[in-house]
This record gives sequence, structure tokens and C-alpha cells, in this order.
Amino acid sequence: MLGYPNDFISFSESLSLAREDKNNIFISLVSENKDDVIPFAVKDNICTLTTPTTCASKILDGYISPYEATVLTRLKKYNCSEVGKTNLDEFAMGTSSETSCYGPSLNPWDSKRVCGGSSGGSAASVAAGIVPFALGSDTGGSVRHPASFCGVFGFRPTWGRVSRYGLISMASSMDVIGFFSKTLNEVRWVFDAVKGFDRNDSTSYNVKKNVVLKSEKPKKVFIPKLKDLKSIVEPYILEDFEILIKDIAKENIDIQEIDCSIFENSLPVYYLICYAEVSSNLSRFDGIRFGPKNNNHPDFWRKESLGREVQRRILMGCHVLSEGHKEGLYEKAVYLRKHLSSTLNSWSKDGLLLTPTTPSVAFEINSKKDPIAMYRQDFFTTAPSLAGVPAINIPWNKHKGLPYGFQVSSGVDMDESLINEALWINNFSKWTK
Ligand code: GLN
Repeated sequence: MLGYPNDFISFSESLSLAREDKNNIFISLVSENKDDVIPFAVKDNICTLTTPTTCASKILDGYISPYEATVLTRLKKYNCSEVGKTNLDEFAMGTSSETSCYGPSLNPWDSKRVCGGSSGGSAASVAAGIVPFALGSDTGGSVRHPASFCGVFGFRPTWGRVSRYGLISMASSMDVIGFFSKTLNEVRWVFDAVKGFDRNDSTSYNVKKNVVLKSEKPKKVFIPKLKDLKSIVEPYILEDFEILIKDIAKENIDIQEIDCSIFENSLPVYYLICYAEVSSNLSRFDGIRFGPKNNNHPDFWRKESLGREVQRRILMGCHVLSEGHKEGLYEKAVYLRKHLSSTLNSWSKDGLLLTPTTPSVAFEINSKKDPIAMYRQDFFTTAPSLAGVPAINIPWNKHKGLPYGFQVSSGVDMDESLINEALWINNFSKWTK
């Protein structure tokens, strides 16, 4: 039986905080008032029985799922209770939580700024102290990115180690459910409570009991070439990153610089595969089974019920799988993905990969209108997603009062070791509340 972390706040305390929410973090709230339970928030693309599951999209307005996600059923066994559903980018497509049909969630550190995305509401609800932990989903960085912008830990487990039953799919070959908390021990506790095989998700599995835990201190750390980082990340982030590298080098850890092309190439590969899978997964939202109907305008659903980013991805995905197919676009992306995956996994045998999580701190709402500029926010987060490996955002420091974090990632099934190693690296963090 797992023990509860000590510093979980009381349910009623968090419920009253949630009711006062002024930052558009919560889409809906559960009203029951139970005591002696651990409260948590749930991204609104994870199915719950008592509240609608909308994916922040008009097409799912008022939709009540007939079943709940396995992660919720498992958490309830440990006396956890969901406080409410949190805001996100529509269908988890975005990096700022601005594409939600309910409007953007505001960053608790500065309400003029975004809280990152797509699990922005979940990250913000933890950062604001409304709940001790929250569930999100991470396809290309949606847990790690908002965790960095909001100054909390965000963990993306190995693909398949946590059941996705009840998570509304975006790009299934990369989708995972992940966790936010202010401490890594709480993240570990939630992961332990929900991980493992689920008969409702054929891609889920148990890891053999005798997994060997690597020691807490990594032997080798792979980092992107520092001179290449100058043009990618803000100077204050680079400065802290260089200090960390010096600090860990003093601990006799072998530091190995790698080419930034691995991240540069991951971005187009990720978006290509993502578009293709999105166009297939979202074909069920056809205006017949879900969404408002208008017989005079057969295209009504597309124009009125889905936002621009979702429409863009469906159309791009159709292109990738039809016209683009002639150029072998999808096949090339899949080939590169395999290569990337074996590279990342080979590094993890005796070390971990360390990078900044985001290139900057949270930007102002409505300031990134160009989709490519927005996609570049995912510079460091898409490679671990493509490889299906675990990755964690460690809140590192603040610049002018705004948080940013560093990312550690490892190999498939090395989640437990990665948490230990992240705890060790966290000793060097300059994070203060
Ligand atoms: N920002 C990425 C995207 O827009 C990742 C989203 C996610 O992980 N759900 O695709």
C-alpha cells in the first residue's frame, strides 16, 4: 500500500481555492464536499463521469462520457478525488492553452502571460496551490512545457506504462497521461498509483518486477552543444544551463555534447506524424455523432465547431496521407523517428539527456500569431516524445519573476531511475518559491 505524501493540502481547502479561481484554469467543478481525501485536477481531455469532457472544443460542448479513465479509477482506490476539469488547448493541440474555446488560461505568476500548453490549466492549478497534483496529457511536450512556464514538476512517463483508456486521442503513437506536482516525490507517488497493465488499453504493460534501478547519480550526461544553444534559448536560460553543467562536471560526471540537429529534425518529424494521426483520430468528429447539426450547411461542423488550429491539423494530415504520400513524406518521417529513437535509447544506457525545457519564459497572451513560431516552443520536447521515452521538467529558476525549467530524459522503462536522477540534479536547482 502506498503512503500519502505529507504535504497534500486538504480537500475542502483546495475546493474553496478552486471556486475562487479567477484565472480561467477550471472549466467545471465537482461539487461534492468530502473530507480526508487527496484532491486533484484533471485535464479536460480525460474522461470523467460526473462532469462534461469537452477537450475545450465547441464540438464536445456538454458531452458526458459513459465511462471514466482508468487513471481516475485507480486514483480513487487511494482516496483521491477530482476537484475539477482544467482548461487546455483545443484537443491538446497547442503550446500556450490559447486555442481553447473558453479562452486562454492565465499564468499564476503574471496574468498577462500564457501558462504554456497544452495542459496549461493543470500546471496552473498546481502552481497556484489550488491542488497538490494534477493530471495532464503529453504528446509532444504538453506536460513539460506548461510545467516549465508555471514552475512545477511535470512528468511524461514511458509510452504505454500508464493506461490511456479514457484519454481522448490526439496522436496515439505519442499520447501519454502525465503528472504535475510541486515535488518529485508526489509525482512518483501518483505514477506508482496508476502505472501498469490495463485490459482496456492494449498498449499498456507492466514492467518486470526486477527492474534494476541505476544509482541516483548519472554516470554520463548528454547535453546539446552549448555554442549552438545561443541562437535557440534566451541568454538567462543559457547562463543557468552552463552553471549547471559546470556544477555536475565537478561531481566527476562525464559530459558529452551532442549535435542540436537532433532537436531541429525532431520538430518537422513530430508535426508530420502528429498531423497524420490527428486527421485519422479526429475523423470521428464528423458532425453526425458529435457536435451541433445544420442540414442547410453540410460543412457547418467544420467551420463553427472546430477552431483554426484543429482545422489546420486535420487538413495538413489529409495532405500528408494523400498528396504527400506520393513524395513519401510520412514514410521518411517514420524512418527518421526510428533512428532518433534508437539514438536516444542508446544514450540512456549509462546516462541521461539534459536540456532546457523551453526556449524562454512564458510569453504574453496573443503575442505569437505565427504557427511556426509557436511550434518552435517544442524544440526540446518533441525528441523524447517521438522516442517514447520518459522525461521530466525540473523547475529551475525565475527570470524577472517568471519561471523556467530544465528537462531530463532517459530510455524506455527507465522511469523510476529517471525520477531518482532528477532528484539528484534537482539539488543544484536555484528554484525558490
Ligand atoms: N505543442 C505540441 C503540439 O501542439 C504538443 C501538444 C501536446 O503534447 N498535446 O502538438
